[in-house]
Amino acid sequence: MPLTVHQFPCLSDNYGFLIRDEASGLTACIDTPDTGAILRELETLDWDLDMILNTHWHPDHAGGNADIKAITGCTIAGPAEVTRIAPLDREVKHGDIVELGETAFQVIDSGGHTLGHIAYFDAADRIAFVGDTLFALGCGRLFEGTAEQMWDSLQRLAALPDDTTVYCAHEYTASNARFALSVDDSPALKTRAQEIFAARERDEWTVPTTIGLEKATNPFLRAPLLAARVGAAGEPDAKAFGAVRAAKDNFRG
Ligand code: ZN
Ligand code: FE
Repeated sequence: MPLTVHQFPCLSDNYGFLIRDEASGLTACIDTPDTGAILRELETLDWDLDMILNTHWHPDHAGGNADIKAITGCTIAGPAEVTRIAPLDREVKHGDIVELGETAFQVIDSGGHTLGHIAYFDAADRIAFVGDTLFALGCGRLFEGTAEQMWDSLQRLAALPDDTTVYCAHEYTASNARFALSVDDSPALKTRAQEIFAARERDEWTVPTTIGLEKATNPFLRAPLLAARVGAAGEPDAKAFGAVRAAKDNFRG
């Protein structure tokens, strides 16, 4: 039986996700960006929350943990770094499996944005929750890790099946698209960027995305092909990635 994903915008540009394993009726939320919004959505859906799955420790991802646990009695699983701001019931790391009823999530190390960042992959449903690692046409800033670490993390995500639905934690896509067009003139990117600008004009979401679409158009995953555009011709892939990341950090468009 499938996993139902309920997505909702919150804070200025975050997405919240409430998920339900249909076989068992067990529910979880991916990260806790906005306590009020999460409680309202639970009420609207008439779901009782069983678990929080954290991707990383940042306050717009784990800041609601303590309040939501106190109110709902749920348990919390996440990477050890989350204990910087709130206790965990279960620390999870790369290779672990987190079960929500019949749904099994593989924990994937996706460090780089933060050192301990993880992603959750449900292979049966081909659904991945990637937090602030991979965005539509973008990737997370390197607040704690190195370009090498982030490149390795992105390669682990890129190795998932092309038809994997990817739920990113922010709606950054239009600004990512403006940057992408500055370093890549592939026809596939131009087409996608126009679709994104049009969708945002209509106030539509551009998340989720898919692994296949990101591999075809995301300048961070395509970094080795764009190396010359960012002054990293002939450099190793991770260096080319780092140069694309630095170009985005300095991009004013
Ligand atoms: Zn973050
Ligand atoms: Fe974030």
